[in-house]
Amino acid sequence: MHGDGDRFEQLLQQAGERVRTFLKELENAPAMTTADPENLRELFGTPPGEQPRPAQELLDLAFEAAGTGVETAGPRFFGYIPGGGVPTSAVGELIARTVNRYTDMADLAPGLVALEDGLVRWLASVFGLPAGAGGLLTTGGSQAMLSMVLAARERHLGEELGHGRIYLSDQAHHSVRKAARIAGFPARSIRPIPTVDGRRIDPAAAAEAIVEDRAQGLRPFLLVGTAGTTNAGVVDPLGELADLAAMHGLWFHVDGCYGGFFRLTTRGHHRLRGIERADSVSLDPHKSLFLPYGTGALLVRDQAALHAAHGEDDPGDYMQDLATGTLPDYAAMSTELTREHRGLRLWLPLHLHGLDTFRAALDEKLDLAAHAHEVLAAEPALYVPEPPELSTVVFRLRAGDDAANRAFLERINASQRAFLSSTRLDGTFTLRLCILSHRTHREHVDEALEIIRSALP
Ligand SMILES: *Cc1c(COP(=O)(O)O)cnc(C)c1O
Repeated sequence: MHGDGDRFEQLLQQAGERVRTFLKELENAPAMTTADPENLRELFGTPPGEQPRPAQELLDLAFEAAGTGVETAGPRFFGYIPGGGVPTSAVGELIARTVNRYTDMADLAPGLVALEDGLVRWLASVFGLPAGAGGLLTTGGSQAMLSMVLAARERHLGEELGHGRIYLSDQAHHSVRKAARIAGFPARSIRPIPTVDGRRIDPAAAAEAIVEDRAQGLRPFLLVGTAGTTNAGVVDPLGELADLAAMHGLWFHVDGCYGGFFRLTTRGHHRLRGIERADSVSLDPHKSLFLPYGTGALLVRDQAALHAAHGEDDPGDYMQDLATGTLPDYAAMSTELTREHRGLRLWLPLHLHGLDTFRAALDEKLDLAAHAHEVLAAEPALYVPEPPELSTVVFRLRAGDDAANRAFLERINASQRAFLSSTRLDGTFTLRLCILSHRTHREHVDEALEIIRSALP
């Protein structure tokens, strides 16, 4: 039937060759290519026909389609938060997709559930959470955030959301607001807390807001700190936030989606201290663990909180054959039912390459960012704030308005040898150089720095 047998083996081989060529050409692939979206619809958006088509033709089309836009897998991608995509993860994924196990209820695929649970427990130990901690692998940080808000809501507010209040800095990722909105919280439930230096949450201001709200009969229940802001890679004072949350009885979440895995390094361990006191941590292996897009994680100090928020007393008569045992039933801990197995895509690369490889790559990114900062800070035409805590360097023209900075960024990206993105800091258009691909090394950063310098007005 469809896809099995000799034809499948041939397809695997053909796809394998294309993948090999793609990886070989990645080193010198343009950082960005532009295309007319209407054309692309015609080329790649055609509906399937009644008759089979040759595999070669389809593989050509797939790689041609992938060849448009930003080369996010390449070493020259410094925009947003780069994710290189360690390719051995794709082999884990191939296995997961082929065996197609149902890992939502442990009964049906206990081995793979144990494998995934082992990863989650290992992650919890990396972040210093106690033995009873748990969690699950998600599609990304946003999904982790939603389950976190639901768990905190259930624990602290039950069904009375109206007066609930959430505290986060003006630098927190927008996925927290999005999660809160989906979880039923009106906009007024969010108290944005100012940052002291435009970057880091001000715990004193947060304390004031909490006390003030409580005095008004509101119910402060969730405090969010960020371990590596998306804007500038800044780490909030996590220990002080943990104290504050403990003092006022709030759920303390640390968003480690960008910066979390730097915890594996000595410097990162130091910079992220306090994260071990979180009630929950959101992570993105598809960012600081270099894995392909689509893998996040949520760790929760007390796994029961996830069950309380997502479990159904009556999960449906069609589920009656399935017992609840010692392995986790992910369906009762997340918004999903039928879900892909996400364990092998982490398990294979982590075991195959070993943790030291990942740690060394993360250390390299910290070194590269420090180097980029040093070079850019020496450029008189640039305003460059303090050295990076993680792997993001922000800078802008000293003399020049938002339009001048935007044009500066466009000149850099027009080189097609480096792709950067921008944000707003201190209310001003600011360029970001984020170094987080496992494929980015000193030579790529040096070339990018040269491009930045020659793009100065
Ligand atoms: C990317 C990011 C998120 C959202 O994660 P997704 O995986 O993109 O859904 C949340 N927080 C921070 C700090 C991020 O950088």
